[in-house]
Amino acid sequence: MSIYPNFSSHLHKAWRYLKSLFNGTKGEYFLIPPGQVVIAGILTILLAVLFWQGARAYVVCCNWATTSATYKYHSSLPINWQSGTNYGANVWTNVSSSNWVWSYNSSSGSVVRLGPIDGINNKAAAVTYYFIIGTTTIVGFELKYDSAETWYTGSGTPSAGQVDLRSVAAHEFGHALGLNHTQLSNCPGGSSNATMCSGVPPGTTYARTLAGDDQNGVTYLYHP
Ligand SMILES: [Zn+2]
Repeated sequence: MSIYPNFSSHLHKAWRYLKSLFNGTKGEYFLIPPGQVVIAGILTILLAVLFWQGARAYVVCCNWATTSATYKYHSSLPINWQSGTNYGANVWTNVSSSNWVWSYNSSSGSVVRLGPIDGINNKAAAVTYYFIIGTTTIVGFELKYDSAETWYTGSGTPSAGQVDLRSVAAHEFGHALGLNHTQLSNCPGGSSNATMCSGVPPGTTYARTLAGDDQNGVTYLYHP
């Protein structure tokens, strides 16, 4: 005995109604059965919504097991590079919606250095290597600035060909806490770009300031 004796009849009516939408004159245009068209339509809408949301978002690599980590300066890093490096770490610490804290510690297992990478005006102004346990847990990193580039290490405005240390440091410390490059929709160009876009053009300083997408990324990884 069924509690809802008319249920199958309702279902049948609903099915007939759906069929009527696609059959008759319209039905001729469909090469696959109408039921599959409905399902395909629903799936397409769901995928479009998912893709639309995904396209707006930061990309996560991995994360520390804690909400803080330390770094130290390698002897190759000139003293006048320290404040720009600290600046790049602090922009992440200062995100109020996140618990993340970077701090300098002379006995840290993670180092920031200056040395050759791939020559002037080539792809990398800096690289960050992770040391990872398993597939997702960061336990250390090494950040290296390319000594071949023409750098601007101050807090003012770099000239056209100079690579801004504060901008690059902010980007690399974002990698070091577990963010990959963000999706292209966050990189429309110029000062609208997120800090975690793949490139920081010489002569610009916008990447010193985190975009909303960058802040969402660190908050996702290390939320209260
Ligand atoms: Zn990068």
